[in-house]
Amino acid sequence: MKSLNKILVTGGAGYIGSITTQELISAGYDVVVFDNLHQGHAEAVPPQATFVRGDLADKAAVKALFDDHPDIDGIMHFASYTLVGESMEKPLLYLRDNLVNAANLLEEATARGVRRFILSSTANLFDLPPDRQFDAIDERFPIIPGSPYGEGKFFIERMLHWFNRIYGLKYACLRYFNACGALPDRGEDHNPETHLIPLVLQVALGQRPHITIFGDDYPTRDGTCLRDYIHVIDLAHAHILVMEALDRLVTRQYNLGNGKGYTVKEVIEAARRVTGHPIPAIVGPRRPGDPAVLVASSETIRRELGWEPKYASLEAIIQSAWEWHRTHPRGYASLGK
Ligand code: UDP
Repeated sequence: MKSLNKILVTGGAGYIGSITTQELISAGYDVVVFDNLHQGHAEAVPPQATFVRGDLADKAAVKALFDDHPDIDGIMHFASYTLVGESMEKPLLYLRDNLVNAANLLEEATARGVRRFILSSTANLFDLPPDRQFDAIDERFPIIPGSPYGEGKFFIERMLHWFNRIYGLKYACLRYFNACGALPDRGEDHNPETHLIPLVLQVALGQRPHITIFGDDYPTRDGTCLRDYIHVIDLAHAHILVMEALDRLVTRQYNLGNGKGYTVKEVIEAARRVTGHPIPAIVGPRRPGDPAVLVASSETIRRELGWEPKYASLEAIIQSAWEWHRTHPRGYASLGK
């Protein structure tokens, strides 16, 4: 197989995609970013990357992408609808559009001889029954998607399985737990924002009056949902490590997290310590689709590839996010203004 030089990053104008693109460039790769900018930001694409604005739903645009870049050696597929809550209201975005877009990409990529593929997958594959909710989740846990978002990702994992069997595609599915944190110049900027840490930090910036806790009657130590928060830079490094090992790995699923869970109330407390702001919180109803507990066991990738998260502490993660939000209070719109 051809050596690895040029990588296509779909969704490379988004949060995790743009930071991974930056790290790929720092590691010496040529990167082509393909993004429709529905959720991403052109300013987030590192200037050293080639940026192609286009939509995976548009087969002609995908074909043109590979016509213009016939030398792509590997693909990291981030482009996706990504919200658990939205998927409970608009399931077909997740059970149709995310699948069709992945299929369009895979169809063209395999026709052009691309044989390396990494999928952004999710911990939402694991909505465990009550008797298993407190276990750290490894790759052998049963797949029970928590929402159409998770189910759609699982369908794509299965699509990859068959592309491996039929076309010899080498692939890895990286199931992120809760991606968070920032670099000084790249971070979360979603509209609308739905994620806990940026919302809490928007309260600290005075942009929101309070944070609403989605339910405090879960079977956890303080009644609020428990999650495994993993820094985006640690995720970016996992992508590069896995892509570089893919020729020998052939197919893999890896769960990516810190292995330690924090409740919503503990996240808010940590943000109070980092920002010095009181961050008022009120309790609201549960959000549909939210499992009570999601904590990763990342033993497999640690053992096989020596991956080790550099940001193990929640406060350090929130500190990095705070730096980004403090210096970019309107996200990318704050740049150059
Ligand atoms: N959450 C919350 N209030 C909010 C946003 C999120 O209580 O305004 C909770 C949510 O129910 C979940 C956790 O925070 O238990 C993390 O949610 P987020 O949307 O950040 O990530 P997800 O777990 O959906 O990937």
